[in-house]
Formats: sequence, structure tokens, C-alpha cells
Amino acid sequence: MNDIKEITSLLHDPSPSDMALISKAYDFAKKAHEGQDRKAGDPYFNHLFATAKNIAELGMGPTTISAGFLHDTIEDTKATAEQIENEFGKEILFLVEGVTKLGKIRYQGSARHNESLRKLFVAMSQDIRVLIIKLCDRLHNMQTLEHVAKEKQVRIATETLEIYAPIAYRLGIRKLNRELEDLAFKYVYPEEYKQVIDLLNQHKGTELEYLEKFNKSLKKELAKGEVTDFHTDFRIKGLYSLHKKLKRKELDIENVHDISALRVVVPNIADCYKVLGIIHSNWRPLPGRIKDYIAFPKPNGYRSLHTTIFTGDGGIIEVQIKTDEMYREAEYGITSHISYKQVQNDNSKKTKLTTNPNLQWVKQILPTMEKWNNDDPINLGKKIPKRSLNLEDVPSWVKDLVEYQKEAGDEFLDDIKTDFFEERIFVFTPKGDVIDLPKGSSIIDFAFAIHTDIGGHMAGAKVNGKFVTINTILKNGDRVEIETKKNAKPSVKWLEHCKTTMAKRRIIRAVETLKTK
Ligand code: MN
Repeated sequence: MNDIKEITSLLHDPSPSDMALISKAYDFAKKAHEGQDRKAGDPYFNHLFATAKNIAELGMGPTTISAGFLHDTIEDTKATAEQIENEFGKEILFLVEGVTKLGKIRYQGSARHNESLRKLFVAMSQDIRVLIIKLCDRLHNMQTLEHVAKEKQVRIATETLEIYAPIAYRLGIRKLNRELEDLAFKYVYPEEYKQVIDLLNQHKGTELEYLEKFNKSLKKELAKGEVTDFHTDFRIKGLYSLHKKLKRKELDIENVHDISALRVVVPNIADCYKVLGIIHSNWRPLPGRIKDYIAFPKPNGYRSLHTTIFTGDGGIIEVQIKTDEMYREAEYGITSHISYKQVQNDNSKKTKLTTNPNLQWVKQILPTMEKWNNDDPINLGKKIPKRSLNLEDVPSWVKDLVEYQKEAGDEFLDDIKTDFFEERIFVFTPKGDVIDLPKGSSIIDFAFAIHTDIGGHMAGAKVNGKFVTINTILKNGDRVEIETKKNAKPSVKWLEHCKTTMAKRRIIRAVETLKTK
């Protein structure tokens, strides 16, 4: 158990110094956590080993794997930051400290602020590798959640479902997204979970029969069409995503055609269309279900050809056709672009890693303002505004960001991390909800950001438990409490002490209304 070869065998062509680094981190973590047990009674080191292995499975390099071994040392052992830096260098210390910081953010349970909380996570992590370590750490915690006290289970699982799984999705790491969702689903929605499992069990047998039969005939037809370089496999839809889909289809499983799908993987794009041609000339496709995500990728970058066909003996099967590269990208997202050789060659500059032009991660965490139309055959390929989007609801930082992106062009990704995120602060309500504001915002901005009525009747405020004046400038992490009184009202002077246009507009409106009364 915990054989280091399980991890090093996942590296592509590791150098002796890569091996030495990983084994040093392995030994250090084992020693530092010696004598500590987890809730299940197994050694704490098992958690670190599992986390490091999850990281290696995503294809990350020795630096990130080593930081994975060390991620709990500063928080939970006698090891100090100086020690980590002396033994492993600045870069690994930076990653470990990043993960430690993220561990202090707690989900308190208010759907309204989840987007801010996700944003806070990404902004605080500063480096994509910190997020990946944190996600891998959470994956193992979810895999062992049964050993945690009942009341904590639901909180941790909800946090996973609302914060961690969506971040994995936006980073395009479908594999992690699916695993996190399915593990959390059981705890957050136990009834629905049972329902989905039952439905799946009823249908799985026949589904698999159809799939196997179709797979055999398809292989024959592909050989006839002289497609020989390909492989196929089955994929079963994630439980939670099946649940969401069933909810949309009013629980009628007969209307869900992609519970399972056959995947055909070929070397290049021309082969994808050739395979589609062979399938459609032998099996009748369901109208409206042919999706060309190669010509029109999904907003998260997903590429593949999808079609759903009648098998001819009563079955209906979804087929996904893609190249190896598309397959890797779909499962591993952002991590499939981070080659650790690249990092190795440029060890001193970790910025190189986050500014890789392939790393669209910052863009992907942003809610899409518009999307490509892939669903409606008449307007296929045209850009349509997202229907649910209400401009009033778009947080101002997103609008700023979109403007900023237009101006900065290609340098957008380079600058965003250093400039933009540093211009935002994140503060907490007494309940622990996160509010994000521009740097330099005061309590007045905060009050109006929560609610017009709260700003409009503010009488006083506390920051971190202490009474302060309402023109106090807020800092990252402040906890702010607003006191309201029925007869309190805004004054023109407040305008000098607020930063956001929203607060300014509301103060002006309130003052004018008071005048006319
Ligand atoms: Mn941990």
C-alpha cells in the first residue's frame, strides 16, 4: 500500500531529479504526519498519498505532485513555512500556502452568493495548480466522507456540489467534475439519488445489450469502409447529471437518450466525419440529435460529433465521435494543456505556466455572456444572447472584465491575474456570504451591495466585531455587520465616501426622493 511507484509510473519519462523530488516529499509528509490518524482510523498519510496520486492521474508534474504530498503540513503538523522553503524551494511553498489559504474559506449555504464564492476561490488561488491540488484534496475527502460525522457530511457535500464541482467543470476537467458530483449527490439529495439508481438499474441491462450488439456491427461496417485505426468504449452518464436531465424531462427516462453512449475515438478530424458518414448510411439517425461540436465547439471548449441512431431492433443509442486529443481535452480540460516538461524547462518562472495561451481558465470561470447556438437548426452557428441573462443581474466585475478584455486583447490573460484580481476585495456578511467589491470600497458600498433597504436605512456598522464609522474602507476578508434604523437615511455626504456607481446612484435617488417629500 502507498507504493510510490503507483505515482511515479504515471509520469511521462521522469528524470532522476523528478523522482528524487517526489520521494523526498513522500518521506517528509510521512514523517511530519507520523502518529496522526484520520476519522476512519487509518494513518493520515493515506490522505496525502491519495491526493498526490489524484494529481498525478490528471497528468500534473513532479512539483504539483510534491506540493500535494505536503499540502496539509503547515496547517496540521509542526512543519513551518521556513522548513518547507528550505527543503523544497519557494515554488512548492507557494503552492502549499495557497492550498492552506483556500482551506479557510467556508461555504455557509446561500445560493445567491455562490458565484462570488467560486470567484473568491479562483482569485485566491492565484495559480491554477493551487486549484487543482485543492480539487484533488477534496476528491479524496469526498471518497472517505462516510467516516465523517453526519452533520458535517451534508455541509461538506453541499460545498462540493455548489463550489468545487462547478469549478472543475469550468476548468473543463469533466473527470473530476463527474466524480465530485456523483460522490456529493448521495449526501445532498439522498431521495433523488435512490430514485436515479433504481431507474438506472432497471434500464442498464437492456441498454448494455443494445450497446454491445451495435458496437459489433459498427466495427464490421467501419472495416468495410476501410476505417481500421479506431477504438470504441461505452460511457455511462454521471448520476448527478442524469438526475438534472431527468428533472428537465419530467422524470421520463424514455426521453433521455444519452444515459449511456458509445464513444468512437479516431486519429484525426477527417476520420470523425468519415465515421459519421458510415454510421448514417447504415443506421437511421434521430432527427434533431446530430450535433457538430467540432465545427461549433461548446462554450467550455468541448469538441465532438454526436448523433443518436435507431439500432433497428428497438434500441436508441447515442454515438460520440472524437479524436484522441478531443477525448483527452474533454476529460482532463485545462490539465491536458499543462505539460510538465514545459514547467521543468522554466522552473524559475511559474508565470509562464499560467500565461500559456491554451489556458483559457480565467475566461472559463466567467459566466458566458453569449453562446453559440448549437441547438436550433435554423439559427445554427449564430451567436445568440443567453436567454436567461438579465443585464441588471450581471455582477459589475464581469462587465468590467469584459470591457477590460476588449482593450487588453491578447495580453488579457497575462494581466488579469496580477492587475484585475488585485483590484477586487472580498468581504463577508455575518452569515459568511461573500460580497465582492472594487478595492477602496467603504461600508456604504457594502451596505448597498447587499440591499437598497439596508443602505437606505444604515445607522451604524461593525467590522470584525468592532464599531467603526461608515466611511471606513474595507479590506479583504473583513466581516461586516450593518445596523439599520427605520428613520435613518442616506446623506449627500455619503457620495464622497463610496466607490461603486450602484451605491452612488441609490444615494442620489434616495436623497432626491427625500427632498420632494
Ligand atoms: Mn487535505
